[in-house]
Amino acid sequence: MAWPSGKAGACKASIPSSNLGATFFFTPVIVSPLMLFLVATPIGNLGDITYRAIETLKSCDYILCEDTRHSIILLRHYDIKKPLRSFHKFNESKSEDYIIQDLRDGKCISLISDAGTPGIADPGSLLVKRCIEEEISITTIPGPCALIGALTASGLPTNSFQFLGFLPKKEQALIEILITTLHYQGISIAYESPKRIKKTLHALAKIAPDTRIVIAREMTKKFEEYIRGNAKDVLENLSTLNIKGEIVLCIEGVAQHRWNAITAQEHVAFVEKEYSIPRKEALKLVAQLRGIPKRDLYKSMLPPRNQ
Ligand code: SAM
Repeated sequence: MAWPSGKAGACKASIPSSNLGATFFFTPVIVSPLMLFLVATPIGNLGDITYRAIETLKSCDYILCEDTRHSIILLRHYDIKKPLRSFHKFNESKSEDYIIQDLRDGKCISLISDAGTPGIADPGSLLVKRCIEEEISITTIPGPCALIGALTASGLPTNSFQFLGFLPKKEQALIEILITTLHYQGISIAYESPKRIKKTLHALAKIAPDTRIVIAREMTKKFEEYIRGNAKDVLENLSTLNIKGEIVLCIEGVAQHRWNAITAQEHVAFVEKEYSIPRKEALKLVAQLRGIPKRDLYKSMLPPRNQ
């Protein structure tokens, strides 16, 4: 199905306030029916919320949130007196029908998550997809997002990056994804839990001890800190500590030209030896990284047959 292009929010006034570089507009929030508002909320510091976000939350009919006990703190702080409805990963698809019906009935609905931007490692993307299919407008009220905060404060180059969400728990899957990040020509950003960060760093220190990484912890909060260095140093730094709080991990990749300078066969041998993984796994990964069929690569590695 072709996706409808849709129109963004209906606003009464838009007043350009600058002609230097990007033009700023101020648009009062006019909540229109048949509209889903994606509203970013703080990632820790309650002060990190935009004027439009508060106005939107105050003007809509109800607010979808992951945990009503958590979001009520934000609502009370800003004197937002709107009903909260639970919308989390376990009821996301089940809730779609009633939400779409409410939007069709002319209700205006805001979607927030426990922290940051809804839809980023949080529920929301399925509902957005459904709204697009149903030709219901969506608009964004942008704001905090942990991955962007970590990247911009990391000191690593920001021109090219990929977001991995939460890293896999199983060791083999973790190693595979870490190897792909080392081959990525930019910064890979992952969300991590304090319980698993040491395990991830151990794996990284083993396969790529010199890779530059940054840990952004508890951003915007009292114990905010950034730990920069290579995987081995950072791990040594953290080894004695009982790490707590919320964490984003940024990993610098290796420039692509380094891989293009070697043949696919040499690449397999490198991955196999450097990262201590079996030949079969190395073949699978290199085929994936270079975008070539695994079978062809496998055949090219076989010794020539005797005539
Ligand atoms: N939707 C959110 C966003 O826009 O960033 C992310 C939600 S995700 C369920 C929560 C994860 O984001 C945490 O486990 C942590 O990895 C990261 N995170 C959220 N707040 C953070 C903070 N203040 N400092 C560091 N990492 C944070």
